[in-house]
Amino acid sequence: AKALISGVNGYLGIWVARTFLEHGYIVRGTVRNVQKAGQHLKSTFAKYGDHFELVEVADITVSGAFDDAVKGVDVVIHTASPFTYDNTNPSELIDPAVKGTLSILESTQAYAPTVKRVVLTSSCVSVWTYLIDSPRTFTEADWNDQAVNLVHEKGSGAGGAMIYCASKTLAERAAWDFVKKNKPSWDLATINPPYLIGPPIHEVYSADKLNTSQKLLFDTLTGSLPDDQYEQVDFGFVDVRDVAETHLRAAEIPQASGTRCLIASGELFPQGLLDLANSLEPKSWGELPKRKPGVTKGKQHTILFDLTQFGRVYGFKLRTPEETISDSLKDFKARGWIQ
Ligand code: NDP
Repeated sequence: AKALISGVNGYLGIWVARTFLEHGYIVRGTVRNVQKAGQHLKSTFAKYGDHFELVEVADITVSGAFDDAVKGVDVVIHTASPFTYDNTNPSELIDPAVKGTLSILESTQAYAPTVKRVVLTSSCVSVWTYLIDSPRTFTEADWNDQAVNLVHEKGSGAGGAMIYCASKTLAERAAWDFVKKNKPSWDLATINPPYLIGPPIHEVYSADKLNTSQKLLFDTLTGSLPDDQYEQVDFGFVDVRDVAETHLRAAEIPQASGTRCLIASGELFPQGLLDLANSLEPKSWGELPKRKPGVTKGKQHTILFDLTQFGRVYGFKLRTPEETISDSLKDFKARGWIQ
């Protein structure tokens, strides 16, 4: 079978591609710029020979952008979408998220009659609202309208994180609305993870240039987060490799049809992540900062996830936080970013 994977040069995208290749798929990956992204991808997947194809989709927001890319594929995985908190221009995040999603769905409907399933990488931020006063458990029935409304009211004043949340909410909603309205011959499954962490295999030039989530982990473990965040931020996480595996299963499992799915392997405050990292044995890396060990132990998180749907639809064993953090630290060490 052949899978189209958009954003194949990204932190998640390349792990998704690797997972599909390992399971015998032919993968056609899309990137914005083959000249920039091609070499690393081609060398990473050299052993798969012509099972890995790379195509350029220069502007995913243009209608018809994926018309050629979708031809002849059996499953479409859309991971490409900007993930940054630094951009406070709403349209620069929302346009690629929403129009990119619609454009790949339109092309699929028009030119890929063989496709049975489309898998969209959404996010937990399409589900939960993070301005809440008391602890609340979110399920797939929830939508983050709060972010959409705030960005609508305040524009760039809503801040980069809120704009990112709105972009993911609007993109996922656009996908479900598309299905409802157009009744395509394929069905849709979305994956809604919190922070993806774990060793990257995409091209990373320096710790500074890490993708947003793994950079947050790096900053947390090296003591470089702003002080006030160590005891306050709810850091829900899951291993990037398990989320790649979930994309594969989402493409194949009948009961994934029409589902959104939260998935997480843990939730800690950054201080808790640091405490966990310091407790790991054996250590093949040097000393990490300690800050205030134990201060967040037992502290209540405000945002909680109901993972019943994950258990029902996918139900496989996720990597433990210990394994994910340990593999990340080994990777940071191998790259010479920590001692
Ligand atoms: P990366 O930044 O590593 O990858 C993002 C991918 O999307 C890259 O291929 C990038 O291409 C592409 N992309 C970004 N902006 C555009 C644009 N304007 N036009 C075309 N392509 C674009 O991020 P992740 O791998 O972490 O994110 C992948 C997906 O996972 C996203 O949909 C993200 O929202 C979602 N996600 C990520 C989480 C995380 O914690 N990492 C958590 C939950 C969801 P280029 O290199 O050319 O910019």
